[in-house]
Amino acid sequence: MKRGEHLYTGKAKSAYLTEDPDKIILHFRDDTSAFDGEKIEQLARKGTTNNKFNAFIMQKLEAAGVHTHFIELLTNEESVVRRLDMLPIECVIRNIAAGSICKRLGIKEGIDLDPPIFEFFLKNDSLHDPMINESHIVGFGWASEQEIEDMKILTARVNRILLKLFADANLLLVDFKIEFGRFNGQLLLGDEFTPDGCRLWDANTREKLDKDRFRRGMGGVVEAYEEVAHRLGVELD
Ligand code: UDP
Repeated sequence: MKRGEHLYTGKAKSAYLTEDPDKIILHFRDDTSAFDGEKIEQLARKGTTNNKFNAFIMQKLEAAGVHTHFIELLTNEESVVRRLDMLPIECVIRNIAAGSICKRLGIKEGIDLDPPIFEFFLKNDSLHDPMINESHIVGFGWASEQEIEDMKILTARVNRILLKLFADANLLLVDFKIEFGRFNGQLLLGDEFTPDGCRLWDANTREKLDKDRFRRGMGGVVEAYEEVAHRLGVELD
């Protein structure tokens, strides 16, 4: 399968059409962005690391019964996925308080959130991805009531599967963001699951091993992603 016409360029991935109208190629670039695209840098090896990390996680989720857009790895930095009609919504689930919830609600970083806290955000950089509720989603037609239920159930299921997967690698899954899209009337997990879109801490030291290293200028960003991949058993080369 070869890249066809360019479809879109996101902050860290680009998409290309293929000869099959139901399939696209995702190219994971080395670009790394934070603060709604205000801070952007190229980090060597990040594209390859995230492409292979994402393939590993998507395959684990499929094996556990969660339907995703992932089809196959194509090259070091590219994967073939089903072409979805993406919902403009980010689903965030949190097991430990960190990031925006701490600022927004004055919560101390690091406290356990049990049961996990689920939040919807609107995918819109110029509005800084505002938090939204189910009434906004139905009222503005961003998704149906059934799709809202499906997103909540599927996000919780992904959380249960991945909490265990990361715990077995001595990692705490603090929180993550996932996105869904429609394919022939069915909701599938789309976009990506990589350390760019989740928080992972070492279970003993609570060292940050995710994109917070980039957000906070801590250095060792790709090295941390590679460490996580290594602990999970992801083949990087
Ligand atoms: N997240 C993301 N993309 C976004 C916003 C958040 O991937 O546009 C991820 C983020 O990496 C974290 C989780 O979603 O794992 C929750 O992020 P939060 O709401 O705390 O916002 P942040 O502090 O990242 O701005």
